[in-house]
Amino acid sequence: MAILVLGGAGYIGSHTVYALVDRGVDVVVADNLETGHIEAVHPKARFYQGDIRNRAFVDSVFEQEKIDGVIHFAANSLVGESMVNPLKYYDNNLCGTKVLLESMVAHGIDKIVFSSTAATYGEPERVPILETDRTEPTNTYGETKLAMEKMFKWTGKAHGLRYVSLRYFNACGAHTSGQIGEAHNPESHLIPLILQVPNGQRESVSIFGDDYDTKDGTCVRDYIHVMDLAQAHILAMDYLAQGNESNIFNLGNGVGFTVKEVIETARKVTGDPIKAVISPRRAGDPAQLIASSEKAKSVLGWKPEHADLEEIIATAWNWHKNHPNGYAK
Ligand code: UDP
Repeated sequence: MAILVLGGAGYIGSHTVYALVDRGVDVVVADNLETGHIEAVHPKARFYQGDIRNRAFVDSVFEQEKIDGVIHFAANSLVGESMVNPLKYYDNNLCGTKVLLESMVAHGIDKIVFSSTAATYGEPERVPILETDRTEPTNTYGETKLAMEKMFKWTGKAHGLRYVSLRYFNACGAHTSGQIGEAHNPESHLIPLILQVPNGQRESVSIFGDDYDTKDGTCVRDYIHVMDLAQAHILAMDYLAQGNESNIFNLGNGVGFTVKEVIETARKVTGDPIKAVISPRRAGDPAQLIASSEKAKSVLGWKPEHADLEEIIATAWNWHKNHPNGYAK
């Protein structure tokens, strides 16, 4: 039996595939390669190129492979883009998941681990955020992820499918081998943008707002290493395989860093002065997002192993300095 990783050529998906293969799991990857990279797919995984909105494609994977469970990363994930082109997000994230679930039900596949997001909460009512806190997304991306969670819930009730939804905070870092890492085009995430400065690809990094109600006025986020996220997916699949009920877990370190602190740490790691320029706030950014991951720790037995920000940035730097253009030659 194999695990099917949808979106296994993307950032978090590819790192999860590496962790699964390391554990000796038989892995099948499906990806439409719209934002994913074929070079990121582990050579030991069997790869199918196609789109989850295409029922014939999804059916064909389930018919060719013996799939025990699905880990689902196949979605668009940029907050800004989701505000400019909301229907793209409804189409890929929601219509795609609907087709996937129809096919899973038809093929009797009853376990799915799903990448959700802190964006399901919107402006938090308190920090650290608990899974039971109010969910009121402030952007289309978060709204579609929340709607996907509900789709799993109701499909589960009707058809006996069980799911684990993992609400990530700020994914970052790279595989310690330096073989795979983060590669978005265009890049919009803080750590890769900071590292473009010592890489000679940009003059400075922008700080989006320094007048927030935080210790230095810049936004606070909970940065969590991509390999720690990968481990959580494996534990979540084990949890479902042991017959446990559907569940939702936050994944973060429970520690917040300001944008200025992240830049300062990157200066230390790279030895570069990294010029930073104060810029206007970015629309839709909450001042602080910090996870309580106590539930993932106690129920799944999850233990983040790369919690130190300096170590996280060092793994990212190891990837970016050797792959300044991502996977492009
Ligand atoms: N940020 C910034 N400058 C940038 C990109 C991001 O100041 O060039 C800030 C952003 O406002 C947020 C934090 O860095 O507070 C993390 O942003 P990112 O886009 O990496 O992740 P998000 O929090 O949106 O998931």
